[in-house]
Amino acid sequence: MTFAADYFDGHTTRAHRVTLSIDAGDLVMVGKGIARRESLSALRVSEPMGVAPRLITFRDGTHCQVAADALPPVFAKTLVVRMQESWRAAAASVVVAALAVVAAYVWGLPAFAAWIANRVPASIQAEIGDGTLQFLDARVFSPSALPATRQDELREAFRGMARSGNDRPQPYRVLFRDGGRIGANALALPDGTILMTDQLVGLAKTDEEILAVLAHELGHLERRHSLRMLIQGSIVAFAIGWYFGDLGGLVAAMPALMLQLRYSRGLEREADEFAATMMRANGVAPSRLADMLAKLDAAARRDRQEGAPDYLATHPATEERIRSLREM
Ligand SMILES: [Zn+2]
Repeated sequence: MTFAADYFDGHTTRAHRVTLSIDAGDLVMVGKGIARRESLSALRVSEPMGVAPRLITFRDGTHCQVAADALPPVFAKTLVVRMQESWRAAAASVVVAALAVVAAYVWGLPAFAAWIANRVPASIQAEIGDGTLQFLDARVFSPSALPATRQDELREAFRGMARSGNDRPQPYRVLFRDGGRIGANALALPDGTILMTDQLVGLAKTDEEILAVLAHELGHLERRHSLRMLIQGSIVAFAIGWYFGDLGGLVAAMPALMLQLRYSRGLEREADEFAATMMRANGVAPSRLADMLAKLDAAARRDRQEGAPDYLATHPATEERIRSLREM
C-alpha cells in the first residue's frame, strides 16, 4: 500500500510531494528526484494529536508530514506504546520511579522542610518557643542554682563572642535552668531561646567549653535547624495544618516533639562549622567544643537515665564530631 506525504529535506522550507510505501520492514520514499529507503525501527513517529498531521522523522532530522488518517496501521504503535510493551523498559521505569521516590524522601523532604522553615511566621516560632519552655519548666526543669552574677558573666562573654564572629546575628537569649532528669544539656528553641542546664555548666572545666556549646546552639538557631527537624518529623500533620490554615494543634504538640528531636549528622556538622568559625574569630580553638563533647559523652555513659533524652541523643554523631572538631 502507498500513501502520500510532504517531505521536508531540511535544505529548503519547501515541501516535496512524495509517495511512501512499506516494504519488508522498510519505509520507501519516492518523489521527484527523491528515492530513499529507511528501516522502520530507525524512524520516529509523532504521537497522535487529534486531526493534526503526523510527523515521521528520519535519523538525519529530515521529516515527512502525513495526514493523520492516511498513516497505515504499522505506525499506530508509537514509541510510548512500544515502550509499554517492552518489559525491559517497563522494569526500568519502575526502578526509575522507585529511585525518584527515594530521592524525594532523602533530598526533597529536608529541602522542603528547610523551605517551609524559612517561611514560618515569627508568631508561630514564638508560640513553639514559649510552649516548649513552659512545658520544660513544668515537667523537667527547676530554677537555676547558678548565682545571677555567674549567669550574667556567661551571657556577657557569649554576647561578645557572638557579635564578633557573626555579621548578622539572630536575636537570641540565653537562659539557665537546673536540668533535672535531662542532666547536662543545652537546646535551642525556634524563637531564639538557648537553654543551658546548670549540670552542663558544672561539667565544663573552662568557660570556653561552655561558650563553645552556646556557639553550636546558636548555629542551630541561625540555620533554623530545630524548625526544620520539627517540620520534617511531622510533615504530614504540618501539610494538613498549613492547608487548612490551622497550625494550632500542631504547635501544641511541638514542645513534646522538641525533646525527641534528633538533628541529622549534616545539621550537626553545619552547627559545628558555624561554632568553629565564631570561636576562631575570637581566638578560641574549635577543639574546646570537642573537649566538651567528650565530657558530655562520659557523663551520659555514667548516668544515663531511662527515657531521658541526653544532649548527645539530640546532637548525634559524637565521635565523628570530636574527630573533625579537633582537626579544624
Ligand atoms: Zn547540635
